[in-house]
Amino acid sequence: MYVSAGIHGDEPAGVECAIRLIQQLSDNQQYKYWDFLLDTYNWMISPCDNPYGYERDTRENAVGLDLNRMFETPEQTKETEFIVESIRRIPQQKHINSHAGSNRLAITLALDLHEDMDSAGFYLWERRRTYHKPIGDAIVAKVNSVCNINRSSIIEGHHNDNGVITLLDQITSKGWTRGRYLAEHENTPCLILETPTRLDWNTRVKAHMVAIQAAIDMLYVNPL
Ligand SMILES: [Zn+2]
Repeated sequence: MYVSAGIHGDEPAGVECAIRLIQQLSDNQQYKYWDFLLDTYNWMISPCDNPYGYERDTRENAVGLDLNRMFETPEQTKETEFIVESIRRIPQQKHINSHAGSNRLAITLALDLHEDMDSAGFYLWERRRTYHKPIGDAIVAKVNSVCNINRSSIIEGHHNDNGVITLLDQITSKGWTRGRYLAEHENTPCLILETPTRLDWNTRVKAHMVAIQAAIDMLYVNPL
């Protein structure tokens, strides 16, 4: 399980949630399945991938680059080099996915926390292979109880099905994003969660937290 946030510095709700997740996961009272989850999955939580941008409320890093387009480009950044190195250091997966065809499946599921200043509601990108079980719909259904869902038919040129944009076996979409890197190199399904920046802070934080909790619950009830 890989939870990352703050690669765009002006999307702070995800950073808040990743830090809260670390705090909650260390509290066994709140997470009754924690022992199972720790025994079954590798965990990496990266709460703030663009600290320069986070401190200055900018999307880009110190030299004006959008880090979520810089994975595996010739001119890699220090930040993306660090992220890639961190991913490579995750030990081999404990829970073996029979579809993977390889033991090199370090990450069962990745959640990348973002915000969208143009959206009126929550939505997510679900990047997966055909053999990965879709879980985006179930997560959106949970978030719907705390936050509006963006149900526009098109978001950023992609078909949006009631809050879920599926990128199925689709390698290119927006350049070398983290999701694309994980799909190509780690065979990892990745959910990119987007909360609407125009809504109030508590709603955005709650929406991310509910989405993360829903994903964790799914890992427990029916391991991917
Ligand atoms: Zn973003």
